[in-house]
Amino acid sequence: MRLQKRLSSEGSSDDDESVGKDYDVVIIGNGPSAILLSYFLSGNWPYYNGKPIDDPILKERLRYVSQTKSLVLQDLEWLSEGMYDSRTMNPVSILFDHLFHPNADMLTNDESVIEWRYNPNNEVRHIVLGMGPAGGSWHYMNNSQLSVSLAQWLELPGYSYKEWFQENQYKVPNLPKLSPITSVHPDRTHTALVGLYYMDYVKKQNMSQNFKNNVKVTSVRQCTQNNIMHWCIEGLQWVDETTTQMFTLFSDNVALAVGASNIPRKLYITGEHYDFVCHALPDIETMINQKLPVLVVGCGLVALDAVLKLIANRIPVYHVFRRSVKDPELILNQLPSAYADYLQLKPLMTGKCLNNEYYKPLPQHNVVGILPNREVIIEHTNKMLAYKLHVNRVIILVGLLPDLSIIDNSDSLKEDPQKEFNIKTNPLDIDLYTYECRSRKGLYALGPLVGDNFVRLISGGALAITHGLFRKEYDAFEDSE
Ligand SMILES: Cc1cc2nc3c(=O)[nH]c(=O)nc-3n(C[C@H](O)[C@H](O)[C@H](O)COP(=O)(O)OP(=O)(O)OC[C@H]3O[C@@H](n4cnc5c(N)ncnc54)[C@H](O)[C@@H]3O)c2cc1C
Repeated sequence: MRLQKRLSSEGSSDDDESVGKDYDVVIIGNGPSAILLSYFLSGNWPYYNGKPIDDPILKERLRYVSQTKSLVLQDLEWLSEGMYDSRTMNPVSILFDHLFHPNADMLTNDESVIEWRYNPNNEVRHIVLGMGPAGGSWHYMNNSQLSVSLAQWLELPGYSYKEWFQENQYKVPNLPKLSPITSVHPDRTHTALVGLYYMDYVKKQNMSQNFKNNVKVTSVRQCTQNNIMHWCIEGLQWVDETTTQMFTLFSDNVALAVGASNIPRKLYITGEHYDFVCHALPDIETMINQKLPVLVVGCGLVALDAVLKLIANRIPVYHVFRRSVKDPELILNQLPSAYADYLQLKPLMTGKCLNNEYYKPLPQHNVVGILPNREVIIEHTNKMLAYKLHVNRVIILVGLLPDLSIIDNSDSLKEDPQKEFNIKTNPLDIDLYTYECRSRKGLYALGPLVGDNFVRLISGGALAITHGLFRKEYDAFEDSE
């Protein structure tokens, strides 16, 4: 396959290999993963600027990295060898995070050692297809008030969040009320603002022509066009609120950037389908005047956000979760003091503070069944104790899953096809240095789908994919020399 420069019009090039295809790369999804990859494919490549970094091993390796050859064309396997971070298993994501956000976890705010250079010769003909506006899940995190990450960890290259905020603070819409807790880290920001920043980022970086928003991709499959194997992408474009138009595109490569928060994970217990059982926090207003308590299942940040919101509105909550409050794996036990909004729950969850009449923790419990009369059967994890609770609603917040139904046999894309997708333990199975799916040539994936759940780590995936696409060209060029 030869990558072609982006064509200025919708026409095709004279090159034989382009016959029958519309793009070199189609990116599915329009969240931060897609935006980052599109930034690279728009010809913006990262270069090491030569400044030293603290990590001694990486510092030594960087001595051999030319400042005139982009990281896209460097030996990423050698550069990232042995790098470790508990948040991802992908060495290139860790490598790029070390360069783009040096010492970020030390909160020292060190300057990036990456310089971005635009070269039109590096543009790749691509299109981003996504539902809703550019920015992905950041437009829909209605229940979380503040980002977990600091704003500078969420920003994309070349236009900082700070710059955006300074330019836009007067047109920022009415935001949901912020937490009354004041001791949270000042650099955490409102999730809704991050969505707006991403949307404006695409315009500011002149990338809008590569984005088709309000589009739902319905199928991605391999097909033959004029005897050449392509990917065929079908979807629906919303023309207005009620009308859709079907479209079909052909491309050499597809990059999946659909995130991992499309479908709520279920408990698969009896009664989960009743209408008083939900898998997202319902409108609080509908519960405020009802006297019966609500039962929340789960202990991740989404569940904690829901608990906080409910008790702030004086709605009594039974909080059922499987782990012990002392379990180091419990997300609450991993948060530093910058997360005072969540940490206020800890004394309540341990039962050390009993002065909240609206909150009752049930650690080391499972919900095993739900009855039509709104009774919920709860069982201790030691299975020695079971009882029923009568509640108004059951809110199950035990995680989210990607929707990969657009691809045939999508289970085979996972590391373990037999098991459910899990960001940490069972993401998509990719080549670690190109992020190409190991079972499907020309299909790439990045972001939470491959275990990079933080925006900070996603740029490494965009680097690896661009490396993968250009590596083939580069190798061919080297071989012919
Ligand atoms: C409540 C919550 C809080 C979070 N807080 C943080 C945080 O503080 N810091 C951080 O770094 N990360 C955070 N994350 C994780 C964050 O969502 C991801 O890091 C990031 O948004 C992933 O980007 P993405 O582009 O891969 O996916 P997403 O942001 O999920 O975007 C994917 C997009 O693809 C679209 N899509 C899916 N299927 C199709 C289809 N068939 N056709 C067209 N479009 C499709 C979706 O509609 C969506 O718009 C949080 C996640 C949640 C759920």
